Amino acid sequence: MTHHHIYQRRTTHEVTIGGIPMGGTQPIRTQTMCNTPTQNINASVDQCKHIADAGADYVRLTTQGLREVEALSQIKYRLRRDGYTIPLIADTHFLPKIAQQAATVADKIRINPGNFARSQASADEHLSTLLEICRRHQTALRIGVNHGSLAPRILERYGNTPIGMVESAMELLRICQRENFPQVVVSIKSSNVPTMIKAYRLLAKHMTQETMTYPLHLGVTEAGNHIEGRAKSALGIGSLLTEGLGDTIRVSLTEPPENEIPIAQKLIHIAPLYPHSTLSPPKKTPLLTCHYKINHLDDILLHAACEAGPLLIDQYAADLKITATIAGKKLPDDQAKQITNALLQAARLRFTQPEYIACPGCGRTLFNLEKTLNAIRAATTPYTGIRIAVMGCIVNGPGEMADADYGYIGASPGKITLYKGKTPVKQNIPEEHAVEELLRLIRSPTAATHGEMHNA
Ligand code: SF4
Repeated sequence: MTHHHIYQRRTTHEVTIGGIPMGGTQPIRTQTMCNTPTQNINASVDQCKHIADAGADYVRLTTQGLREVEALSQIKYRLRRDGYTIPLIADTHFLPKIAQQAATVADKIRINPGNFARSQASADEHLSTLLEICRRHQTALRIGVNHGSLAPRILERYGNTPIGMVESAMELLRICQRENFPQVVVSIKSSNVPTMIKAYRLLAKHMTQETMTYPLHLGVTEAGNHIEGRAKSALGIGSLLTEGLGDTIRVSLTEPPENEIPIAQKLIHIAPLYPHSTLSPPKKTPLLTCHYKINHLDDILLHAACEAGPLLIDQYAADLKITATIAGKKLPDDQAKQITNALLQAARLRFTQPEYIACPGCGRTLFNLEKTLNAIRAATTPYTGIRIAVMGCIVNGPGEMADADYGYIGASPGKITLYKGKTPVKQNIPEEHAVEELLRLIRSPTAATHGEMHNA
């Protein structure tokens, strides 16, 4: 393909997080999140060090209560003492008071507008207080919307849609603008890649209309692991980067967090090679052919995600064919097919295996996510067409498992609750039987709504 567009980033202003600026003309920054319990200070310090050593610009930890805020302050102290300057971000949900406390310790606070406050009036009150604290402590803020955890008042008005996600973010951004607080980054994530792309594009448009230049944090939530997890993240983040959107990115995988960083760094370098503009679309083609001469097998997926992503998402191309030579050797057909299938499924154009929606894990996680996800994958491979969510905790899991047909969710240590759609159907079952029970649930006659799609 020929490219006549010049790579241009959306105009944003700079936001400084713990001394590391992002947005504006700063490089696009990378970040990830610890999956250690924040209260386990030794493990969290070690993991932050691995993440920093892998080259991440920022690291996030969950602070669900005051004990975690206190632990975060010790983690920060130990990291700084050992010469690690990586800025720390506190992830808070539900409790504005905890966000206020965490804002005195962390370099940036993430709040989720879906659970920050019940009403618009209380959101205004709590956010104004939080901004004052952030101002005093030079703490930045992320307004982090998640498709799947929108506030009831937004859902009633807009439904679970990209515009609902955008409004959820705009409600709080307007308060930040009114309070003249510019140190804000915004994200609007989904596990559904086309939804995520639509939502970010729409958010950028709405911000421009209201003369806002807040930088964007890009990510696909609950992407899972292996090639599928990489395909979803690369397609969602890569496509938006080629359009000039995105100032910091998080590739989220159900794997050790440091695995995410090299992928994020490569995406940042690869995306500008394939500049894309939604304003001058290409001609429609039934089959898009991409060819690469490359040194590493893993890079093919990233190049193809950036080159083909926007075209597949906007349905300018209906199918994809990848050919490549890796260090002079032809890419075997089965590997090309695996990459193509992963990208087409991430774009929701062709389903060749079950869809796994798995959270990356954090300090709230109640079981070994990676091991469990792999066991569930192995047990459910033939069920093409169904969506299975594997979520580490009951606090955010059910909301964020989006449109999954089945959910496997950590209820308490050693206990799992299984969901069919949004309904818990088997509660608090021992973890050692949970995969088997999930399989029984999928096979049960009451699950016949997806029967035609099974065993494809
Ligand atoms: S679902 Fe729960 S365990 Fe998983 S990342 Fe979200 S908060 Fe953490």
